Amino acid sequence: MPGTLYIVGTPIGNLEDMTFRAVRVLQEAAVVAAEDTRVTRKLLAHFDIRTPTMSYHAHSGPGRIAEVTALLRAGKDVALVSDAGMPGISDPGQALVAACVAENIPVVPVPGPSAIIAALAVSGFNTDRFRFLGFLPRATKARRALLRESLSGADTCAAYEAPHRVAEALADLADLASDHPVLLARELTKKFEELRRGTARELAEALAEAEVRGEIVLVWPGGGLRATAAEDPSARAVALARRYREDGLSTKDAAARAAAETGAGKRDVYQALLNGA
Ligand code: SAM
Repeated sequence: MPGTLYIVGTPIGNLEDMTFRAVRVLQEAAVVAAEDTRVTRKLLAHFDIRTPTMSYHAHSGPGRIAEVTALLRAGKDVALVSDAGMPGISDPGQALVAACVAENIPVVPVPGPSAIIAALAVSGFNTDRFRFLGFLPRATKARRALLRESLSGADTCAAYEAPHRVAEALADLADLASDHPVLLARELTKKFEELRRGTARELAEALAEAEVRGEIVLVWPGGGLRATAAEDPSARAVALARRYREDGLSTKDAAARAAAETGAGKRDVYQALLNGA
């Protein structure tokens, strides 16, 4: 009989969110496979759990997966944890789970907190259907394309974003749908938890000047793309150009850059800016 791979959720800040079952499973497993063993050892120590740890992280290759599955095949139970939240959700886990599935090794979830679910639950937006975008792309073009697409669908959307990039992401959202409601959920379950609600433009402006810290989830409803911007690339280009001009570019340079990024005609964008668009 093979052992079981347990996928164990751990707190995203507040240690009181650890479940009784997580403590028991971590205690009873033969080994805890951890994204960062130093982080996990602190958690285990807090709950007086003495199970040995091994590392399993984003760069663990097939060799590590083979080691874990060998343990499981030998009948040992393995508990997989990440630094915080649910393993496999923007965290290592998926490849190991897939390997176990392929080998008919039982995989059992031990659900715990996840930042995405916590943020959605307090968003007040429709959560009957939602779309998780993971971490937003770092490349400007890819991020804007994804945000635009997110607004063209009806599902509520949620994404993880790094603190030093969140102002830019909000500015991109504001360009697409300035009055669209957004929730910025920061430091959930922690001492400085903050739920900031406002329009994309309000939040973008508030954050443009501030130094943002901590961990962040952004949530916004779908369906916000203005018809004009959705259907007419030049409307999107003009909105972008306006922003570049606000950022300090000349009208000509702002028009050229926005046109290049959207495929709209440079002269059209330039003319629209001159006309007061
Ligand atoms: N597996 C985790 C989960 O289930 O929530 C997510 C891991 S992902 C590497 C880390 C990102 O999740 C952070 O950059 C942040 O966007 C979000 N996050 C994690 N903890 C958070 C918290 N306490 N408050 C807000 N966002 C959080």
